Amino acid sequence: MDLILELEAFLPSLIKLRRDLHENPELSGTEVNTAKRILAFFAQFDPDEVISKIGGHGLAFLFKGQAPGPTVIIRCELDALPVAERNDFEYRSMNSNISHACGHDGHMTIVAGLGHMLAIERPKCGQVVLLYQPAEETGEGAEKVVKDPRFRSFDADYVFALHNLPGYPMGSIVVKAGTFNCASRGMVIRLTGLTSHAAWPEHGRSPAIPMCQIIEGLTNLPSVPELNGVLTQVTVVHSRLGEPSFGTSPGHAEVMATLRTETDESMTLLVAKASKLVQDKALSAGLEFEVSWSDEFVASFNHNEACRIIEQAARSAGLDVLPMTKPLRSSEDFGRLTSKIPGAMFGLGAGEKPPQLHIPYYDFPEKIIPIGTKVFLEIIHRLSSDTIETNE
Ligand SMILES: [Zn+2]
Ligand SMILES: [Zn+2]
Repeated sequence: MDLILELEAFLPSLIKLRRDLHENPELSGTEVNTAKRILAFFAQFDPDEVISKIGGHGLAFLFKGQAPGPTVIIRCELDALPVAERNDFEYRSMNSNISHACGHDGHMTIVAGLGHMLAIERPKCGQVVLLYQPAEETGEGAEKVVKDPRFRSFDADYVFALHNLPGYPMGSIVVKAGTFNCASRGMVIRLTGLTSHAAWPEHGRSPAIPMCQIIEGLTNLPSVPELNGVLTQVTVVHSRLGEPSFGTSPGHAEVMATLRTETDESMTLLVAKASKLVQDKALSAGLEFEVSWSDEFVASFNHNEACRIIEQAARSAGLDVLPMTKPLRSSEDFGRLTSKIPGAMFGLGAGEKPPQLHIPYYDFPEKIIPIGTKVFLEIIHRLSSDTIETNE
């Protein structure tokens, strides 16, 4: 049986699934109907085991081989984004202000294609787990999945995932050992002083100037000598001062910033520097201050051996393998999985000029669906046959 012809024949069903998912996106942590759709689609594949509600609304489908062997997890994401879609094709998002602007609809479909292939032919040995992870965009899903005892019971040997990459040739495979996605952290700063009559600002303690100093200081932090040379970035994303009232000098302010670094170590340093800056500016102006953190992503780390397996798999599928010199600045909670299990994420080129990820016009290119499935299938064949190549 020619598996690739099988995959081609199944493509119309996959494209229908992709468009259904695209039309019905759900935000992180609320992926109830997306999970229902996936569960219903997988019924035709008769998996050996189905685990639901893993890490929230997550799902895992197990396909077991005849003989003992490695457990390989292939992971994709269930969630969409709070982005109002501006496309006008028929299957555009029906949920206002929510869309699949990161292409997770495409990733889920690629893994569904893999379900079809495993239904036809189980792995020779070991088992394959197809993991539909919830809440990737908020960085919460992978962490919750990892803490679930049912996930730990897989005792996985490898974990793989892909992300579509606009800006790279359509269908090319992008591999990078080490950091693939940067670590990031959301910083929330609250400054409290004292309001006063706007005619007598000297009677109060306005956070206006310290707030501006903090915005400027945070923006310039990546150029401090200790952080020079590593990829470091601070983006101030929001600020608010007092109330829109001409009669009152402000008594409170809020600043939010996103911190990014190439490694978890440089994140620790950046966090310490940012916290110290806030403390210095607030205290010297006699203000109370509070710093809290959210949306915390560790750097997503790719293991060397897993990268080598991806590269071999892509080449035997006849695909171009491109190197990536710098990690992606964006974050990805897949790092929570590769911090526990050897593995790697690879990029799947989405074309050189499509809209970038998270943009209201983004739409996953369907042409690359079978390509993603083929690479995963090659990876599984390499790991779940008894003739694993150990060197090349
Ligand atoms: Zn995203
Ligand atoms: Zn994404």
